[in-house]
Amino acid sequence: MRKARAIILFSLFVLFITIFGCFKPRQELKFTERTTMMMDTFVRMVVYDQDKSSERIEEALDAALARMALIEQTCSRTIPTSEVSRINQMAGKAPVRISDHLKNILIVAKKFSELSQGAFDVTIYPILTLWDFTNLSSRETIPDSAAILKRLPLVRSDDILLQDSLAFLRQPGMGIDLGGIAKGYAVDQAYQILKQKGIEDFMVDAGGNLRLLTGEVSRGKRRIWIKNPRQRDFLWGYFKVDDQSVATSGDYERFFIVDSVRYHHILNPKTGYPAQGCMSVTVVAESAMEADALSTTIFVLGPKKGFQFAKSLPEIEVVILYGNPEKPEYLVSAGLKDKLVLESKPLVSVQ
Ligand code: ADP
Ligand code: MG
Repeated sequence: MRKARAIILFSLFVLFITIFGCFKPRQELKFTERTTMMMDTFVRMVVYDQDKSSERIEEALDAALARMALIEQTCSRTIPTSEVSRINQMAGKAPVRISDHLKNILIVAKKFSELSQGAFDVTIYPILTLWDFTNLSSRETIPDSAAILKRLPLVRSDDILLQDSLAFLRQPGMGIDLGGIAKGYAVDQAYQILKQKGIEDFMVDAGGNLRLLTGEVSRGKRRIWIKNPRQRDFLWGYFKVDDQSVATSGDYERFFIVDSVRYHHILNPKTGYPAQGCMSVTVVAESAMEADALSTTIFVLGPKKGFQFAKSLPEIEVVILYGNPEKPEYLVSAGLKDKLVLESKPLVSVQ
């Protein structure tokens, strides 16, 4: 099979956020910002509070980042000593003691798996390792279909057994991958810490998983920009939100193209192949963990089923981009319809 040039797109931020028209001229406002690499993506926190000392803000940001680092150490499947790695190493053999953080994540992961009838499934790990989207530069080959078929029975969230502080994967060869939910949880943790430390106006972003607390400076002014999924440097449109979480899952973040077919990192657990239909799914929810898991879930379900599923969850809003790559079609839920502004413009113009 002819191999096309591999394209890896690690876009800096999946969602863009901008603030327009502040009370004072922008140069008089003091924003404290931190950007770092974590959980295989960019993490960015911005504090807009004007009345706190910089020491207090820096101390709060340190604590929030330390917590996110702890979540990464707990949940990463590539850190051999993480709790997730130990669960995977002990699959089919013995239960592993886990922290409350991981337990909380696994409970929610199992809930979303059940709710979506298996579209979201963190036991996708054995299939993901066949595709290996984390190491795209070294291989851009499609795994053998027989190998995929053989591993499909290992994808079964019902076989994650949780009791007290123990976790056990029932079948040997099983494994979990929290790439579709842990960033959201980490963002929620950072949010809680910043809030506890008295910070009142801020945002936390981990690779397109945002959580916002709105205060005097940002109220009514935050624009959440959705990227054009097929024009790398263009934005597609925006909506405004205040105190909520937003996440986007897209097929343009980690992918390669072989014979004009795009293979990306969001897999359909029923087939073991990349989910078809959506180009990007943006979800607004109360918590970042819900937004993270649900954007992945709806992406897997595809535009039609995914939109129905979103409508069955009254507390969330969704924008789905799909169809014609030249000019994406979209579906938007009732609560966002009037807020969504379609505006195509170059990314650089809003930075
Ligand atoms: P990103 O991690 O790039 O922000 P998502 O939140 O959509 O994007 O999560 C995609 C990640 O979730 C994949 O890289 C993989 O780790 C994991 N994943 C892929 N398919 C599924 C699935 N069907 N259910 C649960 N997790 C998945
Ligand atoms: Mg997600």
